[in-house]
Amino acid sequence: MYEVFQNSYARQLAEKYKPIWALQKSMALLEWDLETYMPKLGAEERGFVNGQLELIVQEKITDPEFLSLLDKLERSDNLNDYEKGLARVLRRDVKLYTKLPSAFIQELSSTTNRASLSWREAKRTNDFSKFKPDLEKIVDLMKRMAEYLGYEEHPYNALLDLHEEGITVADLDHVFSVIAPSLRKTLDRIIEEGYFTKTSKLQEERYTDEEMRKAEWEILRHLGYDEDRFRVDISPHPFTTSIGLNDVRITTRRKGYDFKDTLFSILHEGGHALYELQIDPALTYTPLARGASSGFHESQSRFMENVIGRTREFVEGALPLLSQYLDFLKKYDPEEVFVYFAHVSPSPIRVEADEVTYNFHILLRYELEKGLMINEVKVDDLPELWNEKIEKYLGIRPKSYAEGVLQDIHWSGGLGGFPAYTIGNVIAAQIRHRMTEDVKDLEDKVARLELDEVKVWLREKVHRWGATYSPKELLNKSFGEDLNPSYLTSYLDQKYR
Ligand code: MG
Repeated sequence: MYEVFQNSYARQLAEKYKPIWALQKSMALLEWDLETYMPKLGAEERGFVNGQLELIVQEKITDPEFLSLLDKLERSDNLNDYEKGLARVLRRDVKLYTKLPSAFIQELSSTTNRASLSWREAKRTNDFSKFKPDLEKIVDLMKRMAEYLGYEEHPYNALLDLHEEGITVADLDHVFSVIAPSLRKTLDRIIEEGYFTKTSKLQEERYTDEEMRKAEWEILRHLGYDEDRFRVDISPHPFTTSIGLNDVRITTRRKGYDFKDTLFSILHEGGHALYELQIDPALTYTPLARGASSGFHESQSRFMENVIGRTREFVEGALPLLSQYLDFLKKYDPEEVFVYFAHVSPSPIRVEADEVTYNFHILLRYELEKGLMINEVKVDDLPELWNEKIEKYLGIRPKSYAEGVLQDIHWSGGLGGFPAYTIGNVIAAQIRHRMTEDVKDLEDKVARLELDEVKVWLREKVHRWGATYSPKELLNKSFGEDLNPSYLTSYLDQKYR
């Protein structure tokens, strides 16, 4: 056990971390249950249970002996990469619990709970004023949080760092300044040509739950997902959770028609799951047994979903398997299926956005969040600013607030989470670029759904390390450069030619 740690403080910390790991995995299982099978009225007591478990975690992480071991580890010389990673990850966890006063944490938690309800009601009735007071409170709490946590240059950096360690406003401004004009050009060309904007009859073809479940598993088995370590369930919002390195679970939703919706959820969450499944088993029970960041996690899901899944090669490999269960597919040729998969069309709704338009949805949220943090944007002005921005970027105007400013639940929980989606897209394209240098005939392999080499490559470059390296360290170590948005723009330009 803990062969990765030699330093005695690291070993003692890892030992003390075990019950924290157990509590966190128990909470993950409860969360999974809440999203899938829990009877509705269980919510209140479940909230209580989570609150109590969270308090125990907090107690253990801020235990004076634990903190003193961490200090000693940080002051030790000659730490190996795992030991440095352990110190880094634990210091980040400790910072959250020690820099934020407990009264503040309570206020944040009760406000976000209330806001998730007022957001739901506001969206249902298309009435922004019902969410506005809670959102104003949340923006205020985010500003206070930035002050507690500390930051350089821009208060939004404090929030960004929570989601994406080391990523700053300067990084994101650069990323968007590269991708926005280029993607706009690609999008204009796609619209002008009209090939990928055609709607397909496939979107109306109906399937039964049983047919789709079998079809999904046929693909999953071919891609090497092992039913002894992985499962698929149903929930309204697809997600992935890790209950342990040998118990990783995803969910999907099946509408009964438009089968790409569930198929691409399966591939997307399957990408997240593969990350968790391929973490080095030596890291189990330690805080390093998790992804490097939300952006890195998202890069894995986008890679499977878009770079592998939305291609002619994938259609070639998957179509014969899918047609065994989805009879209607026999009427369509592979190119029609590909155009259905790779469809591009500006939509007001982020979660329905395609690869080309998706990052504009993030850009608009990023600009608004950044502005809110420095009082350049007022909550009052959000609905109108939102509509102006989406019109500027995508040439469409939402018909309602529910299709505009109220579409996502995220702001009821705080700010700073959205940029990880674009970071994920950027990293996925960097990975694609590097992988094609190493994996020979990648496209032929995808066409045969032979992903063994792809999986080994991802394991060695990304997955096995868990959180040993920060996102920027891992990018440099594995790909020899920092976040580089130019691969994303050239990949999409090529793909849609
Ligand atoms: Mg995801």
